[in-house]
Amino acid sequence: MSNNFFKKDFFAKIVRPREKLVNFDEILKDRVKNKNFGAKTKGLLTRYVQSESSGIVSFATFDVPPVIVRAKNDLAYDADGREYIDCLSGFAASTIGQCHPEIIKTISEQSRDLIHNFDLPTVPRIELAEKLSKITPGKFEKKVMFSVTGSDATENAVRAARWYSGCQYILSAYGAYHGVTAGTMAMTSKGGMGRYYYPMMNNNGFSYFPYAYCYRCAFGKEYPSCDMFCVDYIEKNMLKGKESHLVEEKGGVSNVAAMIIEPMQCSAGYIIPPDEFLKGLKRLSDDYGFLLIVDEIQAGVGRTGRLWASEHSGIEPDIIVVGKGIAGGLPLSAIVARKEILNNWAPTAHVSTFAGYTLGCAASLKVFEIIEKENLVKRSEEIGKYFYEGLLELQKKFPIIGDVTGGKGVFLALELVKDNKTKEPAIEKTKFIAVECLEEGLLLQLGGYFYNRLTFIPALTITKSSVDRALSILENAFIKAERI
Ligand code: PMP
Repeated sequence: MSNNFFKKDFFAKIVRPREKLVNFDEILKDRVKNKNFGAKTKGLLTRYVQSESSGIVSFATFDVPPVIVRAKNDLAYDADGREYIDCLSGFAASTIGQCHPEIIKTISEQSRDLIHNFDLPTVPRIELAEKLSKITPGKFEKKVMFSVTGSDATENAVRAARWYSGCQYILSAYGAYHGVTAGTMAMTSKGGMGRYYYPMMNNNGFSYFPYAYCYRCAFGKEYPSCDMFCVDYIEKNMLKGKESHLVEEKGGVSNVAAMIIEPMQCSAGYIIPPDEFLKGLKRLSDDYGFLLIVDEIQAGVGRTGRLWASEHSGIEPDIIVVGKGIAGGLPLSAIVARKEILNNWAPTAHVSTFAGYTLGCAASLKVFEIIEKENLVKRSEEIGKYFYEGLLELQKKFPIIGDVTGGKGVFLALELVKDNKTKEPAIEKTKFIAVECLEEGLLLQLGGYFYNRLTFIPALTITKSSVDRALSILENAFIKAERI
């Protein structure tokens, strides 16, 4: 064909000015070939790479992911029977431990009656909506809107806030992760993912502010002497500023529908802000008349030593977004909002075939029952403290550990730096340690604004002996990293 338009290179140039298409197939196959895994696992990985898109996240979470075939509470086993301490717990979805016997029983019993009934009312669904309204912060009447993934739910939160307020702008933080659908990608600071929406990206109507990541304060200040300058910045520059497009004070015009915030930043590498941060944002939402949406998808469900992470600051959000750990490993999400926010959608306004499906709701009711019965919020606080103290001991031995995040349940991370004064991120060594941990049987997450944070996302039910083993694997990895 003579027409240039159909030539592959022509597309590459026009559609992707910054990079040509890269064939990752060979790269991933090579990684699998050279990985020190057992034969069965490698065989399965070869088939995985051959049959699925090279965009699979597992090759970013790990250099090469293990193929887990079985898991029990805090331990996971690959196809060759190799054991791993699970400090990932399905990225916080298996918060009460993998394959909890009561969840298995509930799923099995509910499956005999009803698995799914479209987006229609069922008994577990009605009960779960009532339960979520009761157990989330806010002494006011609430309503629930179910969905399937976290991204669905944050998107619904934004839609609800815009519809209710009649305003356009959503304020979100740098470093945030709220989902990767077309409607949520603009609130998520993952350039590497966002670029795949090119040449279309729905980032109209979003505005951004720095998170209270105090170890690397965007304003070069120190907590607490900063007096929460970051909240002040939002107020003075974004809400009051004469040049701001968000609020026109004199005319009393606000274009801000809501602010969405993770009470603790998760995918950014487990960052805990001072409690005053959320309090300050709540004050802004009250003073300037926009809604406060708190995304509890990952930090919620007991992880931080409270049932909901926002409880640490004592605020009452207008909308709370829940997902991941609420259903014991089954996909289910929801928004829980002030009643009046969800009272004005016409019955045709939304539908999703699997939203609030029966099996997920039944499992979720059981999750909250187990959390209460087994006192797992308290357990998260106690075992989290034990893990945190172990990490602080490691910091004394290895100067590469610039910062230890913890003290709030099993919400834990290490930040690695080349120099404690300059805080230059030790990216290569972080990667090295993550790979070493995997090879020695510890699943964790490599993340952070600069990919120099190791985050630990264990189940609230992780045992002391697993924590000890995890710390010992980490220590050996740090010793090896010192030699490279
Ligand atoms: N919000 C937060 C805080 C998350 O951590 C995630 C997932 N990492 C999401 C939203 C999106 O959830 P999902 O992957 O289920 O769409």
